[in-house]
This record gives sequence, structure tokens and C-alpha cells, in this order.
Amino acid sequence: MLIDDVTLIDGTGRDPRAHAAVRIEGTRIAAIADAGALAGDERTVDGRGMALLPGLTDAHVHFGLTATEEQPPPESPVSYVLHVVENIRIALAEGFTTVRDAGGLDPAYALAVAERQIPGPRILPSGSFLTQTGGHGDHRPVWDDAPQPSVPGLVARPEICDGPDAVRRAARLQLRRGATQIKLMASGGVMSPTDPIDSLQFTVEEMRAAVEEAASFGTYVLAHCHTSGAVQRALDAGVRSIEHASTIDDATVGRIAAAGAYVVPTLVIIELLARVADLPQFSRTKLERVRAAAGESLRSARRAGIAIGSGSDLLGPRQRHRAGEIIEKAKHLGAMAAIVSATSTNAALFRMEDRIGTVEPGKDADLILVAGDPLADVGLLAEAGNIALVVQQGAVVKDRLRQR
Ligand SMILES: [Zn+2]
Repeated sequence: MLIDDVTLIDGTGRDPRAHAAVRIEGTRIAAIADAGALAGDERTVDGRGMALLPGLTDAHVHFGLTATEEQPPPESPVSYVLHVVENIRIALAEGFTTVRDAGGLDPAYALAVAERQIPGPRILPSGSFLTQTGGHGDHRPVWDDAPQPSVPGLVARPEICDGPDAVRRAARLQLRRGATQIKLMASGGVMSPTDPIDSLQFTVEEMRAAVEEAASFGTYVLAHCHTSGAVQRALDAGVRSIEHASTIDDATVGRIAAAGAYVVPTLVIIELLARVADLPQFSRTKLERVRAAAGESLRSARRAGIAIGSGSDLLGPRQRHRAGEIIEKAKHLGAMAAIVSATSTNAALFRMEDRIGTVEPGKDADLILVAGDPLADVGLLAEAGNIALVVQQGAVVKDRLRQR
């Protein structure tokens, strides 16, 4: 397949290349040249007026967290599975070809995508997230201490664990079930009822147990941390991927930079939650706190040269407009940096930079064709209708061009 005469935004941050041609052979990108130079007898897509980008990636998805205030559990297992599958399907149609699930999705769904039972992006699952009793992941009603066990192969509920040994076992359990990295909750969060946002969750010793198990398995830990105190402790434990980092001071930014850790801000969920009319008051108060500081925290991380990944943190059923995160980030960093964040920086965060994240010969042919110029109007990326073509490892999985 040949995509000819297209504007190439290759994910490296280089200036776009006008009138480019990209040839795909099998599952890989085979060649890049000037328009017309690669013409052969394969299917040729006329890319005029469109931009070719690497498939988008999202480092913080929650495909399995389908409940909302309006639509609380319990729902039937069938309904749950259908909601999850719908979330996965929408992400691919919106141009996302690789995502990291930040907890709450059983790895069986990643397997179902890999085996082509359902359409979707390649999923790097974290399985159940690890939380302490009363931590951000503990959503039980205050008066109910009953455990809420997972259903392996179907539902990955929070793993509530206390003490290094329990954390170690919980991490091993996720890896056994197919998690590709471990997610833990190291600070209070917006949507949980009992934990102040400044609360520090898990001791360094507990987090270190998870980091050791992940490292022994050849992988790493990502940690939910809104505040400086939580980030500092996560770094002490060896956490590699700092999620949210909404309100962090200069000393903490300096420590993240020195550690070479990644930050994955999640801006769009903050804006979406701010618009929810019936958000519980405990959430509203915490939300305003992180909302006031998130932009400046991101900009100061940028100034310090920290690698900034892209994560949407979308929740609920029918998760749409996932690229809203890129649009929010572009307000602070510009469109090109926001696109780089959601392509090559995430690829390095996933340790997949040899395969995805840029349009270069030898890389996986995970590509999207966008109608229009996303550098001039980054908002184009959030509308599925503008994603004209999605190619996943060389296979066309969405094609609006043939429908014209
Ligand atoms: Zn999250």
C-alpha cells in the first residue's frame, strides 16, 4: 500500500514534510520519499489535503472503569463486557493504535484484541490497580468493609493490600494474569470518597516491594500521584511513571528530572469532570484544587526537560474524544509538542520506541490519515470523522476514503 502526496508529521517533532509518500509492506513501513517517487501497482491513497501521523497512543486509559454516577453498578457481566468492548472499539476508530491501561481492565481484553477477536488498539494492561485500605482505589462505601474480589478473565477490581508482603503478592498476581506493568495509588484522588488529596498512600517500603517485583519481571511501576509529597515518596521507591502530577513544586520537578522519570499529566479529565453538574461535593473540592495547579505543573515539568507522556484518564461508558488530552496539552505546549507527547514520548515510556511512535522505515505500520492540518487546528484530532484512515500493523482497520 502507498500513501502518496501527503503532509507527513512523523512524531519526532521535526517540521512537517509536504508532498511525501509512504510505502507500507506487510506490517511495516518500508520507505518514505517525495510524492510520486514510489509509485507502483499497489493500492495508492491520494493524501492531498491530509496529514499522515503515527497512530496515536494514550498512556492512561481506563477501558474497564465503565460506571458513572448516573449508571452505577451492578450491571450484568454481559452489559459490562459490552461497555468495555465499545470503549476499546471507539479508541481505535479515533486513531489510537496503542494504549496503556492504567488499571481496572482485565488483561484478557488485551489478549482478545491481540488475537483479533475484537477490534481495538494494542493494549498494555496493568490489571487491577494496587491500593491501600482507604486509598484512592478503595471505592467501597465507608460502612462496608467486605472485599470486592476480581473475577479473573473478566473484571479486575482494585487490589486492596497493606504491608510490603501483601503488595508484593498483589504485584505478582497482576503479572501472572498478564499485566505488562504495575499500577499503584500513592496519593489521594478526586473521585474517591474517603481520602484527602494530600494524603500519602503506601509507605516507601510498600511501593518498593511492587517496584522490585516489576523490575524482576522486566517491567516497571506507574503511580497515581497528585501532590509533591506523593511524588517524592514514589521516586524514593523507584517508580518510573508519575501519573497526574497535578500540583508539584519546583523541588519535586527537579527530583523527577534527576531521576529520569516520566510525567503523565491528565488534563482533559479535569476539564470534563469540571463540567459534570452533579459531581459529589467531596470530588468538586478536590477537583478545583488540582485544576488550579495542573497547567503550571505541566509547564514547569516541561521547562525542566522532563519527558512528558500523554494520558487522557477518560472514565465511564462510551469514552469519546480521547484526543481531547492532546488539545488540552497543546494549549500549554503547542500542537507539535502535544502530538510528540502522544506518539514518540509515549512510545519510549512504553519501551516500544523501536517499533512505534514515529513514521520511519522499519517501524510498525501504525498510521493515521487526518483530514486537514492538525498543526493549524489541533482540535481536528478529537473528532472521529476527521480520522480518515487507520492502519494498524499494515492492515487498514478504518477507511472513510472508500466510502466517499
Ligand atoms: Zn487514572
